Amino acid sequence: MTEIRQPRPVSIDQHGPGLYLHVPFCARSCDFCAFYQVVPHRDDIRRYLENVGREVSLCNTRKMATCFVGGGTPSVLHERDLESLGRLLLDAFGGEFEEWTVEVAPGSVKPGKLRRLKDLGVTRISMGVQSFQPGMLDALGRPHSPKQIYRAFDWIRESGFANVNLDLMFAVPGQDAAQWRSDLEEAIRLKPDHLSTYCLTFEEDTALYVRLSEGRIERNEATETELYLETWRFLAAAGYAHYEVSNFARPGHQCIHNLNTWRMGDWIGLGPAAASQQDGWRGANPPDLEAWSADLAGGLRGQSGREGLSPGLLAEDAIVFGLRLSEGVDLAALERRFPGICFEPLRPFMKRLEDDGLLVSDGKGRVRLTESGLLICDAIGAEIMGLVPERTLVEAGVMK
Ligand code: SF4
Repeated sequence: MTEIRQPRPVSIDQHGPGLYLHVPFCARSCDFCAFYQVVPHRDDIRRYLENVGREVSLCNTRKMATCFVGGGTPSVLHERDLESLGRLLLDAFGGEFEEWTVEVAPGSVKPGKLRRLKDLGVTRISMGVQSFQPGMLDALGRPHSPKQIYRAFDWIRESGFANVNLDLMFAVPGQDAAQWRSDLEEAIRLKPDHLSTYCLTFEEDTALYVRLSEGRIERNEATETELYLETWRFLAAAGYAHYEVSNFARPGHQCIHNLNTWRMGDWIGLGPAAASQQDGWRGANPPDLEAWSADLAGGLRGQSGREGLSPGLLAEDAIVFGLRLSEGVDLAALERRFPGICFEPLRPFMKRLEDDGLLVSDGKGRVRLTESGLLICDAIGAEIMGLVPERTLVEAGVMK
């Protein structure tokens, strides 16, 4: 058995910058998935690899604290391609990452690929499990079996990865509380370091959305609430800190890369559909291999929805995403980070949330949502939008 060394501790207070690479390939499309992904042909992969190189050459490259290779399914790539992508990122962005996550799927991860990733310096593996039950996997259109999950998890641990996340999904049509509880128990039995638990959403243009709109399946909001609460209580009792609405970690295993994005740090996104927030702007690449390649050929990246960042926009998003974190938001620190931003319009809103039992304040400027608040954090976020006045970075003297 390979000895598992604990990763170097990383300060969770630091802000990125982070690097994200979208690998837009999957073995097949899951019935709930709205991410940009295609089933690849060999030529697609060759052109993708060439274009990632082209996009890197267009970036203002610099040392990055974290890297997250997601998708899609990065593990569908050949180990030789995983290696060449990894070397490209290392060479361009500072030689090593303090935290480096690669997403894998149970059906495509192999010991040889894991060895290459470990040798490159990847520190964290995130595996899309969704469920341990054949019926649920079938209902989600997942192309793997429970047996493949267990085998892949063993390979990941045997390869020496000491930081492993499992993704699970709940509120699957037909799933009851006992079935979800059984998935949570099975996940805990494997002792992962981190768990992401997502409530199934029905995104347009997915097979599940079609089934929902045809009345073949039903959504049950009362069950969703029950399963959220069951998850939070069960995982807390199992020693996993609930640090974001959908994320849980054993001590020292929060995802630093995601924390940076939720706290509105900078990140560079590469690949089709990847969003970036860097150097005073945010934008995304087109969710299409052809359109992305054409943009790069013209020397362009991050054109879709591109907007200049302003202190008001960043402060607003730092509050909206920060309230999804159990640490909440330090409004006093945000006022120091964005001098000149007036938070006064927010205060009556925060007071109303407090009066309604949805938010608590420590009296020193830090606010966080209660359990009841977290259950409706999307609605609370939508109400916050527009409450922080806009000023450009130039007006606020943050940028020239
Ligand atoms: S493996 Fe992940 S990215 Fe690919 S189709 Fe399924 S959910 Fe979407």
